[in-house]
Amino acid sequence: MATHDRPTAHFTWDELGRPPKPLRPAAHRLAQALERLRELRGDRPLTIVSAYRSPSRNAAVGGAPRSRHLVGDAADIPRGYATTRQAAAAGFVGIGSQNGWAIHVDVRPGPAARWTYP
Ligand SMILES: [Zn+2]
Repeated sequence: MATHDRPTAHFTWDELGRPPKPLRPAAHRLAQALERLRELRGDRPLTIVSAYRSPSRNAAVGGAPRSRHLVGDAADIPRGYATTRQAAAAGFVGIGSQNGWAIHVDVRPGPAARWTYP
């Protein structure tokens, strides 16, 4: 794959877990929201912890059976990068947080979802 074939300026398909072609539009929407978050944080580099997961990979890491990671529109990000409020401002729809820090973000269709991790 050509090096210019990346979803957005600061993220590569590798970083997004190499989602299969049919999931690329969803992963592209994810990358666009990640770009907005990065910009909101003053262009601070953002390391993706986990994005798209194949069903076997998802099962191996104990992901939820209907995890957004399976459809390519979710990413886990390092705690301390952005607050829940900042993630919402960047356009994320599903936000899982720990101590006020967003650690899971997704661009699911439908209503906003918020939850916390212990
Ligand atoms: Zn997640």
